[in-house]
Amino acid sequence: MNQRFLEIFIGLVPPVNEWPLRTFHISMAVKGNQFITYGTNLARTHPINLRNGKRNSSGIDFSGTKMSCSELVCLMRVKRKSNIPFEKITLINFRVDRNLEMCNSKPCGSCSSLLKFLRLRKCLYSTPNGFELYK
Ligand SMILES: [Zn+2]
Repeated sequence: MNQRFLEIFIGLVPPVNEWPLRTFHISMAVKGNQFITYGTNLARTHPINLRNGKRNSSGIDFSGTKMSCSELVCLMRVKRKSNIPFEKITLINFRVDRNLEMCNSKPCGSCSSLLKFLRLRKCLYSTPNGFELYK
């Protein structure tokens, strides 16, 4: 993991009492060593999220939870703010808990379909032990 991206992430985390949800997620779009934009998880639902049911890695459906995934928020910003093709974008997922410990931010089922559909270059996600390449 590029140290600079980690520092950008740390700078973007608001005080814990301002978090909209229990954990704080950021998806960052980068191109090589260049930071492009980011998205955070939001406590409101986007219509695209409603069309694609959300399941966590254990297969549990959480489509009813009022939230938008940071991946979706970030990728919509990429589209709106740049003309960089998704094939050149690497998405890095960060997630911290309320003790500011890094935790697992593997994309959910809905985001996984989105990443495949957009043919992203690659996706890295945080785990308690560092970063993993999403396949
Ligand atoms: Zn998701």
